[in-house]
Amino acid sequence: MNRKAVYPGTFDPVTHGHIDIIERASRVFDHVLVGVAHSHDKKPLFNVKERIEMMKEATKHLGNVRVEDFSGLVIDYVRKKESMVIIRGLRMISDFEYEFQMALTNRKLAEDIETIFMMTNESYSYLSSKLIKEALTLGADIKSFVPSFVAKKLKNKLHGKPHRRT
Ligand code: ADP
Repeated sequence: MNRKAVYPGTFDPVTHGHIDIIERASRVFDHVLVGVAHSHDKKPLFNVKERIEMMKEATKHLGNVRVEDFSGLVIDYVRKKESMVIIRGLRMISDFEYEFQMALTNRKLAEDIETIFMMTNESYSYLSSKLIKEALTLGADIKSFVPSFVAKKLKNKLHGKPHRRT
């Protein structure tokens, strides 16, 4: 059986925590599709094209992972991609309430789609894109939280330097 899972998120930007979840999913499923949400309401720092580019670079060592954008309901996207599995990452208990609510809502909307939670490596369990951005704004060294090319793009973005492709 050819099993495909969809990992949806904003990924603004991708962190070692996200990459850890994707690596775990890529070992369990035949194909993993990372769906980078437009998430206009969250007002992301990076536009969707930049977030996809970073995600592609961060997952290029994984042969069975594809990255693309999506908008609208996650369950509609998962169906369109002929999958029946949503992957979500769990960090702390604090994620649980929101993720639980979302998973149950999605189940109500689509009984045939299953949400599977994966627990991150404990060394990434405190990481969040939001905190990393805040920490960098305050001058913290973020190189152990995100791949080095992401750290560079974040610094350029937050410190106002023009973004240059290498
Ligand atoms: P969303 O906007 O959908 O919450 P995020 O990009 O913040 O998207 O996160 C996508 C998924 O990755 C969520 O399931 C979130 O709980 C999970 N996640 C985020 N950071 C980590 C981490 N450090 N370890 C494990 N999972 C994480």
